[in-house]
Amino acid sequence: MQSLVKAVMDPRLSDLLELWRRAFFPAELVERPLDCLGRHADHLLIIDIDGSKSRYTHYGRAFVANFGTDLTGQIIDLLPSDILPAERRGMLAFEYAYARRVSRPLWRSYTGRFDDGKTETWQRLVLPAGRGRLLVGAYPAGGVLPEIDPATVDPEGLALLKLVIERVPVVIDDDGDIRDLALSLKVFGDTQQHMAELKELATSDGLTGVANLRHFHHLAGMELDHAYRMGRAMSVLLLDIDFFKRINDRWGHPVGDEALKAFAKACRKALREPDILGRVGGEEFAVALPNTRTEEARMIAERLRRQVEQVVLPLEGGDSLTFTVSVGVVTSPPPGLPDSARPDIGRLLAIADSALYQSKSEGRNRVTLATPDWGV
Ligand code: GH3
Ligand code: MG
Ligand code: MG
Repeated sequence: MQSLVKAVMDPRLSDLLELWRRAFFPAELVERPLDCLGRHADHLLIIDIDGSKSRYTHYGRAFVANFGTDLTGQIIDLLPSDILPAERRGMLAFEYAYARRVSRPLWRSYTGRFDDGKTETWQRLVLPAGRGRLLVGAYPAGGVLPEIDPATVDPEGLALLKLVIERVPVVIDDDGDIRDLALSLKVFGDTQQHMAELKELATSDGLTGVANLRHFHHLAGMELDHAYRMGRAMSVLLLDIDFFKRINDRWGHPVGDEALKAFAKACRKALREPDILGRVGGEEFAVALPNTRTEEARMIAERLRRQVEQVVLPLEGGDSLTFTVSVGVVTSPPPGLPDSARPDIGRLLAIADSALYQSKSEGRNRVTLATPDWGV
């Protein structure tokens, strides 16, 4: 994610950032910024605080050309609506306040949609220069992101980055990496939706839509804590599709992907509402079953195994694909163990993995219960 930012920042803004960094904080940057940053003058705004308002000390020609108004010398609360639509103005006010507060550069990319239907992507860099002064560089930057070979980056990371830099200003640290995201729930008009999308991306597996590994650990961990507090049982299933490599080898990776989606759907169908399903590996999934003892967990695992057996994936040319799954089951220890002896979710998964291994070695397409000795 962080190296991606370096890769996608417009080189002219990288240059501006570099000039700012080298000058930080000699007096001339505060007093005579154009002497230091002159080669960006056309694309630079200099904004000072005047009471609670902004004073545009310098308003680069690129903006005059783009918006038809020269704001140099003007003192305004918010940019006029003929220059920017309301939601964009709120966003700018937020960015400026944020950059002043954190005293760090903020960078973002955004795609503006103009009345004539034209869309244009700009990148902006907001640089604090002390005493409330901000230097803002903005360049039209072609596409949202330069072409990045998807094979070289984690697709989830790339999707997240694309979303982030279109929606959320990024706080840049001394190495030019992302330090933080500048988020304000109040200011972004449709932030709720942005947040929901971001959260969805950060917590779910892009292919199957179920919880990703990290999120599964988080949710299942919380359920397990709750189970311990309430003196209830929780069970965990670990599932691994049988001979999945053969599916890929015979039908190709895209068909394998379809099989994974169909698998996740079949699992969801066999599970109850509060059960948590996550993808914890390529073709490995896990389920947390709150409030569920061993025998019931075994029944659910069997139901799930049969549900998967019944999945028929139609393929081109009249062929169809079926597959099976092996399962390992473990149940949390009964009450009475000291806190320190209680297994966490990672430990439960490791135990379920041994049971899963047994299912594999005994012929696959089966469910094995782990019988750990908890010492109670
Ligand atoms: P076993 O019954 O012992 O589990 O055999 P297996 O072939 O399922 O196990 P193995 O771990 O050897 O192979 C898993 C395969 O899953 C290898 C990997 O290429 C494939 N795989 C992992 N993630 C994905 C994915 O997202 N899409 C597709 N199509 N295949 C994937
Ligand atoms: Mg596997
Ligand atoms: Mg497998």
